[in-house]
Amino acid sequence: MPRIAYVNGRYVVHAQASVHIEDRGYQFADGVYEVCEVARGHIVDMPRHLARLKRSLKELSIAWPVSEGVLPMLLREVVGRNGVVNGLVYVQVTRGVASREFVFPAAGTRSALVITARKADPALAAKRAETGIKVITVPENRWDRVDIKSTGLLPNVLAKQKAKEAGAQEAWFVDTDGNVKEGGSSNAWIVTRDGVLVTRPAEHGILRGITRTTLFDVAAKLGLKIEERGFSVAEAKAAREAFISSATTIAMPVVEIDGAPIANGHPGSMTLSLRQAFFDVAEKSPA
Ligand code: PMP
Repeated sequence: MPRIAYVNGRYVVHAQASVHIEDRGYQFADGVYEVCEVARGHIVDMPRHLARLKRSLKELSIAWPVSEGVLPMLLREVVGRNGVVNGLVYVQVTRGVASREFVFPAAGTRSALVITARKADPALAAKRAETGIKVITVPENRWDRVDIKSTGLLPNVLAKQKAKEAGAQEAWFVDTDGNVKEGGSSNAWIVTRDGVLVTRPAEHGILRGITRTTLFDVAAKLGLKIEERGFSVAEAKAAREAFISSATTIAMPVVEIDGAPIANGHPGSMTLSLRQAFFDVAEKSPA
């Protein structure tokens, strides 16, 4: 079965799918996106992801590419046509195709919509969670609207490449006060010596991760305490546990920060409990 992508109203073979060279996403990164996890045949937290997409579009004055109510159906269709039971579905909306001028194109220019889906092996993620991941820290060098899920991800690309070259799997952006902001494609968490979950407030300077939001629900169910506050790299290195969250990693233990092991260098039990309970608590839309 060939992979199928949805591109501006058409279902096309993924390998042959293309967009116009004057798509503003291609030329200016003038677009936004969402990634939802697909697990056991369900799209995870789809309403929350689509609500954030709506916010991103509004913040950038990009028009809906299709009527809002149709999008869940399109996501399901792309997941179904690709036979994805476990994996992810990706949605991207750009300001559309127009002659290359910085200012917005003429009113009525249709925004462009691409939806793809990809299979992933849950056994591989489970295996990774057993050993945990390593992170490096990098100075924050992004713009201050990272609350918008924009496709402009060059600093994230460079930070994650740097992590890879250092033998790590994620890079944490650190602000000028020495506090951790978030990862290149994830939110950052620690568990204090007293067993309190700590993550930076999402009001400013980070993306309000959907997994982060749902982990608040999971923590409430498990009776765990959360403090929303900044934490420094030094505090993270001295923490009982550290982990990242994102739609594709859920809660993934961090066992090393800049080469320093966290606690005994093994995944933390609270992180693994959150990971374990996540699917039950998350909202599941049958694909
Ligand atoms: N921060 C950044 C910069 C991200 O790219 C992501 C992943 N999209 C997240 C946080 C986590 O967000 P979510 O839980 O919605 O995947």
